[in-house]
Amino acid sequence: MKRIPFNVPPFLGTEEKNIRRVIQNHKISGDGEFTKKCNLALERITGSKKALMTTSGTAALEMAAILADIKPGDEVIMPSYTFVSTANAFVLRGARIVFVDIRPDTLNIDEKLIEQAISPKTKAIVPVHYAGVGCEMDTICDIAKRHNLIVIEDAAQGVNAFYKGRALGSIGDYGCFSFHETKNYSSGEGGAILINNEEDIERAEIIREKGTNRSKFFRGQVDKYTWVDVGSSYLQSELNCAYLYAQLEDPEIINNGRLKSWNMYNEFLKPLADKGLMETMYVPENCFHNAHMYYIKVKNYDERTKLLAHLKANDIFAVFHYIPLHTSLAGQRFGTFFGKDEFTTNESERLIRLPLYYGLKRNEIEYIVEVIKNYYK
Ligand SMILES: *Cc1c(COP(=O)(O)O)cnc(C)c1O
Repeated sequence: MKRIPFNVPPFLGTEEKNIRRVIQNHKISGDGEFTKKCNLALERITGSKKALMTTSGTAALEMAAILADIKPGDEVIMPSYTFVSTANAFVLRGARIVFVDIRPDTLNIDEKLIEQAISPKTKAIVPVHYAGVGCEMDTICDIAKRHNLIVIEDAAQGVNAFYKGRALGSIGDYGCFSFHETKNYSSGEGGAILINNEEDIERAEIIREKGTNRSKFFRGQVDKYTWVDVGSSYLQSELNCAYLYAQLEDPEIINNGRLKSWNMYNEFLKPLADKGLMETMYVPENCFHNAHMYYIKVKNYDERTKLLAHLKANDIFAVFHYIPLHTSLAGQRFGTFFGKDEFTTNESERLIRLPLYYGLKRNEIEYIVEVIKNYYK
């Protein structure tokens, strides 16, 4: 068996034709034909009022933090088990991060612990849909409503995934997607923000266009284009959007491929889970996930180190994931863990992500599972 990488960026074949078209159009900056097509495709998938392509998932989170008017001294609640950008976006606006423990089953923020972490300074809650499996959004939105807080979904891993029939990213006030090379749909680097309230759309367009009303000017709604608010350069290039659109045009091609792989892993690893040797993924019944990830949880940190080495010795590149933010240098400086870290550190130390990408073959998955079974022999 040849070497199995952890990730291969998605490529369907139609990307090249789209990129050639962009070059021929002589329009390679943002908001051209393919940017608009991507925006529309995302609105179709999610039902959101407005999708705007951004340079990255990080940029989408930064835009959301500006839209939410986060100011120095504000507090923002999120899990510690997440990517640095979830926190950075708010730290950049001067906020203090309040980390809340995760649920051991989905590794998402434990919705039952959020309310205790709210203080008079709390401004927003940022649920992260880990592995494309939805957080308990009904509870989270209800808490937010009662305390007048903004909900920003970090749905970087959740494109084309659903909670109770609603697309991840479309449920809170803002949703943030990533199209990084490691995500289900990709443009190399890229992202999008979903604006779920009509009244925020105009300001979002301004923030994305360096704080100018350029979008309105191009639509002929104002006769001057000028500086009207804070903002930055968050607009995705047409070249990237052309690559991405090939995959968003029919998102089910990639989705079906990934789900097939995910289901195979789940079926083939079940005997090991049944024997209590490891835990496989849990997906709540009300969630349609997008097979962003297939992870297993082994006994402890030591066993993880050994199994990862065993996989590597057999040319399989599996990886662990987040080091909890509250244990990092910056996390300690910019945040506080609220309550007890019962699951965040423990669960993060025993998690292994197995190779999963569009085009991964059945015999490769069988080989990976065989190698894992050999480890437990
Ligand atoms: C990938 C990811 C991001 C950042 O996305 P980029 O496009 O790489 O900036 C943010 N949050 C989570 C949970 C992610 O998985």
